[in-house]
Amino acid sequence: MEDKYLSPYVIENVIIDVKPHSHHDFDYIKEVLGKFSIRVMQLRFFGEFNFGLIVSVLTIFKAANIESIEVIVSDLFKHIQLQKIVKASNKLTSLYLFNSSRDRTLTQDQCIIVFVKESVMGSHSCGKVSHGNLTCNKSLFYEAQHINTCLNKKISIDSAGQVKNCPSMIQTFGRYDDVDFSKLINSDEYKLLWNITKDEISVCKDCEYRYMCTDCRVFLSEPSNIYSKPSKCSYNPYLGLWRGDDGWISSEDWLKEK
Ligand code: SF4
Ligand code: SF4
Repeated sequence: MEDKYLSPYVIENVIIDVKPHSHHDFDYIKEVLGKFSIRVMQLRFFGEFNFGLIVSVLTIFKAANIESIEVIVSDLFKHIQLQKIVKASNKLTSLYLFNSSRDRTLTQDQCIIVFVKESVMGSHSCGKVSHGNLTCNKSLFYEAQHINTCLNKKISIDSAGQVKNCPSMIQTFGRYDDVDFSKLINSDEYKLLWNITKDEISVCKDCEYRYMCTDCRVFLSEPSNIYSKPSKCSYNPYLGLWRGDDGWISSEDWLKEK
């Protein structure tokens, strides 16, 4: 097998955050981002939304050059409304419904509907690492050895319309209607984090899960050290234990004791 990762997509991942106060012009966004081939677009709705808005946004992106779309939203809809959301776009492959009464999964047509009890209120809820969200597939395995598994070829538009590497970041590259996306994805400043691999991250570089794990570069165990371990991971690879397991201590404390 080839020991390198090649992707046919110009943009691997787009995240667009929407809050009730957001005034995104989705027709414009589709126009400017539609020039690129995109693997996954994630639409994250934080707050209470009419299902009709979600249907209309999905309809706008229906003809765009996007492989698949994921929607994240609070579980506020009746079954018939969920059916209408799924039918709005055959690109919709995952619909995550947070703040749900119980965890369960349904399949409708091309889409997996995942009901999750977890409360998700905004972009600060992102970046959690647990045993359950490690992913074992060939693409991630190769990607993790060569590029950053979260930020490579990612474009984000936060709820205020600011373009960022990730919506949780402070650094912004301007409003989406002022940004030249072709220049942006070729600029060294924007691409700075794209090539940081798990093999360069403290603790992660010693972890057996490093090629199955999304690498968050926002929530860090040492905020001033871009090469520090994701702070939302409680795994100690030196002991093979997660927080809650008998005998667990954090990897940071374990390293201090050595
Ligand atoms: S230690 Fe690093 S590579 Fe291992 S599970 Fe945690 S975040 Fe992922
Ligand atoms: S860098 Fe962290 S907060 Fe940003 S999208 Fe990735 S996992 Fe989420």
